[in-house]
Amino acid sequence: MDLKRRDFVKKSLIASSVAAFSPNVLLAATRAPKQKLGVALVGLGYYSKDLIAPALLNTKHCELKGIVTGSPEKIPVWQEKYGIADKNVYNYNNYDSIANNPDIDVIYVILPPSMHKEYTVRGAETGKYMWCEKPMAPSVADCQAMIDACNKNKVGLSIGYRCQHDPNIQAYQKVMREQKFGKVKMVNSAAGYFDGRTNHWKQKKAMGGGVMGDMGVYAIQGARLSTGEEPISVKAHLSTTRPEIYHEVEETATYVLEFPSGAMATCQSSFGINMNHLQVNYEKGWLKMEPQTGYGGNRGSMSDGTTIYTQVDRQQPMQLDDDALAIKNKKPYLCPGEEGLRDIRVVEAVLKSGANGGCEVKL
Ligand code: NAD
Repeated sequence: MDLKRRDFVKKSLIASSVAAFSPNVLLAATRAPKQKLGVALVGLGYYSKDLIAPALLNTKHCELKGIVTGSPEKIPVWQEKYGIADKNVYNYNNYDSIANNPDIDVIYVILPPSMHKEYTVRGAETGKYMWCEKPMAPSVADCQAMIDACNKNKVGLSIGYRCQHDPNIQAYQKVMREQKFGKVKMVNSAAGYFDGRTNHWKQKKAMGGGVMGDMGVYAIQGARLSTGEEPISVKAHLSTTRPEIYHEVEETATYVLEFPSGAMATCQSSFGINMNHLQVNYEKGWLKMEPQTGYGGNRGSMSDGTTIYTQVDRQQPMQLDDDALAIKNKKPYLCPGEEGLRDIRVVEAVLKSGANGGCEVKL
């Protein structure tokens, strides 16, 4: 082959291989893998502002890159504090165009629970990875729709169960798994705080309020994670001491869960009482955690004199990095949508039993 012809063949080969790939595929192939995934927060209320955005300053595998808000006055404050570019600021109407933004890899929905389904389903349609806060949604049907949308778009769904990323919580799951004190016989799991607000979405049924979604999922998780089982029946009592505030949704719930092994759990959740503890009684000993769901510093002790305590400053950076790493390494999430749904299944049963005089609801 003479030089001229060899050059022609080489050029033709390059041209035909370029033609075989779309510009986006070529760009993706040449772009170095991102060190940190770009996260966009949807909803800039208390949890985004005070916990998740500051946590994203302390993460190795993801960073805050975008915001989605219906409150224009918040935009300059967030842009200045976190250096967010104009092109990465969205509102609830143009949210879907995030699809075309290569800075954003993950969408994290941190809105009132009634809005989780819409913003997770719309987010999944953009092709971005999806994270969503607890409670996953007000109903099992909504949870399933969220899972289905994320499956259809192959984007995965993680629920913001920060506690499950905490080594102290993982430690009591290990006690159960290894049967250190034998089988679980009885659990008491409580999660509540005094909420002094009088006009908030947590008190509105249409927004997915009520203590069961908010604090109930923590008490339920205490029972589910310490037994390693799913309840098969529920009996519940709902009450309020402030009917002028809690007339649409429950202020306090007291409930009994029965598990397949015969283990029983009594649980309490309240917007009127400060409480946060777990006690697990096994065949040959006991374990206590207090608090069981703090942002950091959950502590436990056991009947053999040993303690559970790993210093945790905040759980949120751990959760965010675990989930970002799962994406990078193509591994399953610790708390996928199915885990959120399991709790909402119990929440629905508690509310049904409570509304029907405490009757037994089978699961
Ligand atoms: P919040 O009321 O402080 O913020 C809600 C945000 O949603 C606000 O920015 C508000 O402007 C926006 N919003 C949009 N439409 C709204 C509407 N129609 N009504 C009310 N707000 C509307 O609430 P939050 O405490 O930040 O809770 C948000 C989510 O985060 C909830 O799912 C909550 O359960 C969850 N959360 C989780 C934790 C945790 O420890 N994992 C802690 C707190 C809150």
